[in-house]
Amino acid sequence: MSIKVGVIGLGNMGGGMAATLASKGFDVSGFDLSQSALDHARDKGVKPVPERGQLIAESDILILSLPKAEHVEAVCLGQAGIIEFGREGLIVIDTTTSTPEASRKVAAVLARIGVAFIDAPVSGGPKGAASGTMSMVIGAEDAALARAMPVLEAMSGTRVHVGACGAGNVAKIANNMLAACHLISTAEAVSMAAKAGVDPEKLLQGLNAGSGRSGATQVMFPTWVLNKAYDSGFTMGLMRKDVGLASDLADSLDLDLPLSRTVALLWNASSETLPDNEDFCAIVQRTDAQLYGHGE
Ligand code: NAD
Repeated sequence: MSIKVGVIGLGNMGGGMAATLASKGFDVSGFDLSQSALDHARDKGVKPVPERGQLIAESDILILSLPKAEHVEAVCLGQAGIIEFGREGLIVIDTTTSTPEASRKVAAVLARIGVAFIDAPVSGGPKGAASGTMSMVIGAEDAALARAMPVLEAMSGTRVHVGACGAGNVAKIANNMLAACHLISTAEAVSMAAKAGVDPEKLLQGLNAGSGRSGATQVMFPTWVLNKAYDSGFTMGLMRKDVGLASDLADSLDLDLPLSRTVALLWNASSETLPDNEDFCAIVQRTDAQLYGHGE
């Protein structure tokens, strides 16, 4: 009998994950609050389920791809949630960029009814989700991870098991703290070199052959920034959320991280001119304009 996979949250990431699993022969159903997300998923071979409780009750593996930790807590522990409808043996794979605290809390409560919870936040954007090439940093117990592995392998290209439940979100928050920093520092380097007469495309070739390279120089600038497309599928609002998660984690650990604090200030201040639905790469325009006076 094939594994019944349910996906809650069929947005930019969850929609692609569900479609990938359906294309690989899994029996995939999905739920979203948005009718257009449900319609889009149906077109990709995912069965839309109108009631969240019904989807939870019918699933062997449940994937969550929700905006924030508060949504994960509500879907897991709230009314008509997993705590109410989840069957013993169910595995929840939470791909949301959430908090380690929320993951540990939800895992502890769901464990009481025999439901395992794995935090497996992802990188690779909507393209990675739709092609099954995302990378995952995973917080899980070994036994639950082994049971979830066929589904995890089908939806991702790389998986790093970083520790027990909650560790996946610690690693993801650290990753996005660096991505937030690299996008701004690369914008500064590109602006400096451009003003000194070096073509940005040539500069990036040089950086990518050197020690200054990062996800910003290798993927973000070549794919979404230099061509002015700004269509990565990851919003400003979600990136500002992740920057906030990094600040909160550092504060909770009594760490003073001066560079990260400055980067967080820049992302927070950007909300004055860049709304939450803007692409996250647009931070570059602000950095350019503000620091060097020759942006977009
Ligand atoms: P999105 O806004 O496109 O999708 C979220 C979906 O969840 C929406 O369709 C929304 O209607 C649905 N939703 C919200 N609350 C719900 C609920 N209670 N029940 C059912 N559905 C609900 O967001 P996204 O870009 O797909 O991001 C999802 C998560 O993945 C976020 O935590 C984000 O930080 C993370 N992430 C995104 C990217 C990216 O490139 N977009 C990359 C890595 C990680």
